[in-house]
Amino acid sequence: MPQFDFLIIGSGIAGLSYAAKLARHFDELQQEISIAVITKVQADETNTKYAQGGIAVVWAESDSFEKHIQDTMDAGDEVNKRNIVEIVVREAPQRIQELIDYGTRFDREKGGEYDLAKEGGHSDHRILHFKDITGAEIERALLEEVNRHKSIQVFTHYYAVELITQHHLGETVYRYREDIQCYGAYVLNRQTGEVEKFVAKTTMLATGGIGNIYQSTTNPTIATGDGIAMAYRAKGLCDNMEFIQFHPTSFYQPGQKPSFLISEAVRGFGGILKRADGSTFMELYDDRLSLAPRDIVARAIDSEMKKNGVDHVYLDVRHLDYEKFLEHFPNITEYCLKSGIDVRKDMIPVVPAQHYMCGGIKVNEWGKTNINFLYAVGECSCTGLHGSNRLASNSLLEAVVFGHRAYESTVDSFNDAVTPDNIPEWDDTGTTHPEEQVLVTEMTRELNSIMSNYVGIVRTNRRMKRAYDRLELLHEEHEQLYRESKVSVAICELRNMISVSYLIIKMAMARRENIGLHYNSDHVK
Ligand code: FAD
Repeated sequence: MPQFDFLIIGSGIAGLSYAAKLARHFDELQQEISIAVITKVQADETNTKYAQGGIAVVWAESDSFEKHIQDTMDAGDEVNKRNIVEIVVREAPQRIQELIDYGTRFDREKGGEYDLAKEGGHSDHRILHFKDITGAEIERALLEEVNRHKSIQVFTHYYAVELITQHHLGETVYRYREDIQCYGAYVLNRQTGEVEKFVAKTTMLATGGIGNIYQSTTNPTIATGDGIAMAYRAKGLCDNMEFIQFHPTSFYQPGQKPSFLISEAVRGFGGILKRADGSTFMELYDDRLSLAPRDIVARAIDSEMKKNGVDHVYLDVRHLDYEKFLEHFPNITEYCLKSGIDVRKDMIPVVPAQHYMCGGIKVNEWGKTNINFLYAVGECSCTGLHGSNRLASNSLLEAVVFGHRAYESTVDSFNDAVTPDNIPEWDDTGTTHPEEQVLVTEMTRELNSIMSNYVGIVRTNRRMKRAYDRLELLHEEHEQLYRESKVSVAICELRNMISVSYLIIKMAMARRENIGLHYNSDHVK
């Protein structure tokens, strides 16, 4: 039975930056420890890798922490926890310097200074970026750093199924019991098909987003809300799940998953949203025009599409200096060209797609959940930074700041954990391999349709009630299938996506005002 000091589920910026911190610390002390990082496919297949625009930090002399704090609070409609916003903004420069020390490259201007971009909702230039593949660059550097440490073992193609708590020792675990403890996780080895027990003193959930509960998402297929659902089943608390960010401008390509993102930075660079006839429309919705915050732009596009009976709008960059555009956005330019759009001559067809989950597993200022020795960092967590809406480029930042804070919190406390030696093996007696894979595929399709049609950008009471009722039926059907089946990634992911959808609907129904990313048109009548 593998036994570790630290178990980290997820190999994006959150999991890897935490792992790197731990390893460096114990290397310096010349103290032997064991860190397991597990990841459901190959190590770099993460939301992190797909991030384009960059990472926000106060770096320019003209800028200030106060301005970044206020921009974050404004974007989140002041639902944000101010102390957390202050922590993240003020600790950002140190954490970014560490990413640079690990070998992350950010673009520089000719004079050697960092080239700081400006994005929607930011009052100054403060986005560090590497071309339009910032996330891939950070992921590369972090993986290289992690691979330099012998104490870290990366298990690729390992899928966490369930957190281990007292429940697995036969005790009844209530949600508000204060002594719930996490002892690690049951993990499916995808090569052997066996579920293994990963016992750990401290467990970190760094499992990323939830995008695949929706029909259109910019998230890769790994984003199925596993960490949130596992924590919820283990009686972890979740918060702010109704605040789902839809990116206003994904490349319009029906059936494509994930949807290709046309970064916010393109609008920051001068791209203008237009209708098919070339007329502009953002002036009808917000004074900041195409640079208004994402939720406003997404709703404006949604409204234009519904008014005009069309399934997308356009982003026009034809008036911009092509050479400069290409220099900043080589990946986007190439993708457009491959898809038949020459940005010099054609407008880019764009449509909103699910992009980011602002809520998640509720954690304190050290990334700690309500379950002892269980932490959550990154997109799966809810720190309170984003409030009701995330400011662009603040999520990579939140992950790296909280990766560090969780390290500070766990580095001394992990040895206090006592793990019982009677944790049972995974029990799948009486289950069989399901013959009808089509059931899982169809149920996933149904879930996507429920969430996209009824719990998307614009919600109503009736739509949400309908979604709730449909989801209940789906939940019952799936639980029966789950009980009868040997675990597979597809069955577990669907189970998790149903749980996450339930939390979203429940919190959206409970929210009585329109704020940030939650918009119920019954509340404006
Ligand atoms: P991820 O990077 O998604 O990593 C999740 C990890 O968890 C993966 O390794 C996965 O395999 C693993 N995992 C999940 N479930 C399991 C399981 N059951 N068992 C084992 N492993 C599991 N943010 C910004 O700040 N700036 C940007 O410019 C930006 N652009 C973006 C563009 C796109 C297209 C997307 C999709 C997101 C963007 N974001 C951006 C958001 C940002 O990338 C993410 O919020 C952030 O990378 C999340 O990091 P993470 O470490 O929390 O999760």
